[in-house]
Amino acid sequence: MQIARIAAGFTDSIIRDMTRQIALYHPHDGINLAQGFPDFAAPEEVKRAACEAIMADLNQYAITWGTPLLRQAIADRTSEAWGREIDPDREVTVCAGSTEAMFVAIMATVNPGDEVVIFAPFYENYWPDTILAGATPRFVYLHPPDWHINRDELRRAFGPRTRGIVVNTPHNPTGKVYSQDELLFIAQLCHEYNAWCYTDEIYEHLVYDGRHIPPATLPGMAERTISISGLSKTFSVTGWRLGYAVAPPRVTLAMRKVHDYVTCGAAHPLQAAGAAALRLGPEYFETLRREYQERRDFIVGALHEAGFRCDPPAGAYYAMTDASRVLEGLGLNDDRQLSDYLVREIGLATVPGSSFYPDSGEHGRREVRFVFCKKMETLRQAVPLLQRLRERVA
Ligand code: PLP
Repeated sequence: MQIARIAAGFTDSIIRDMTRQIALYHPHDGINLAQGFPDFAAPEEVKRAACEAIMADLNQYAITWGTPLLRQAIADRTSEAWGREIDPDREVTVCAGSTEAMFVAIMATVNPGDEVVIFAPFYENYWPDTILAGATPRFVYLHPPDWHINRDELRRAFGPRTRGIVVNTPHNPTGKVYSQDELLFIAQLCHEYNAWCYTDEIYEHLVYDGRHIPPATLPGMAERTISISGLSKTFSVTGWRLGYAVAPPRVTLAMRKVHDYVTCGAAHPLQAAGAAALRLGPEYFETLRREYQERRDFIVGALHEAGFRCDPPAGAYYAMTDASRVLEGLGLNDDRQLSDYLVREIGLATVPGSSFYPDSGEHGRREVRFVFCKKMETLRQAVPLLQRLRERVA
């Protein structure tokens, strides 16, 4: 029986493979710094709100594009952050995770034959999203070690078939927080080429250096930006699958229709809890940020000691490292060999850098990504493993 060409062309996630391998080779003493989910508890009051919603029998379908309570909470928080009123009835769509929101945004705005500009390295879903829409991705590389944009390269990626650009700030896998200058240049290109700006702002509350600028707040960008975020990372509930898009009314209508036919809606009781989460006070967000910054400083220090190089990531919860020294010390050829070595011989799951690029092995061959969305206790357990590695490299 036939498998569709698009589905057959998709590859399995290396991140999930690393998670399988660590369980296989080191079931008791392995540390998983590959997959981006927290190993610590979600906030007590948010969990309680979910339990209460289930007991109150909010167990049937919610309004397809999100409960009024959650859309109001999203609109209130966004209005405050952006300094303009967001209409929960015409501008907000709740989805099953920001992953679905991005897919829906692209499906609602892109036609087969169009092009979508995507920065590499990237979060793995944007490329398949584009392919599923029948469009062609145009990749533009961020340049290490500071992951800057080359403006000529970016301009060259735009053309008459460009329908939009995906901007993920703060960025997975590099931790880059896009500067105002960079975002203004992107905005200028969006205007010139009449392109959408699809933003992925899932790490908006995890910024340690600089500040997060929502692209929709830049001059003239409100009407051409589909701003996507969600609850997974801010409230440590990646399994709840709650995300949302804030977008102009006309495109919101189109997105709601696509969303209806893709998932019909996000989990109803969790939406009630999501509204409670978004209403947590400023101290919650400040503590979250401070604790992540402590984890960042700790892991970056430990990685440096072991021979990995990276500037402290300005946001999100990933360290994308230059592993050249470690590769040379171990006599290995590339990132994939090193990640395999780390998971098998050292008991540390990581992600090979090349898996975040489109050209399977040309870029990212000397890069390895570590996550730090883990308890300090877990990160401390990684230190003796990194020391063991260092002894072998030295
Ligand atoms: N966007 C980025 C940049 C991510 O890194 C991730 C998860 O790792 C997601 C989206 C997934 O978000 P959600 O759980 O809301 O689908």
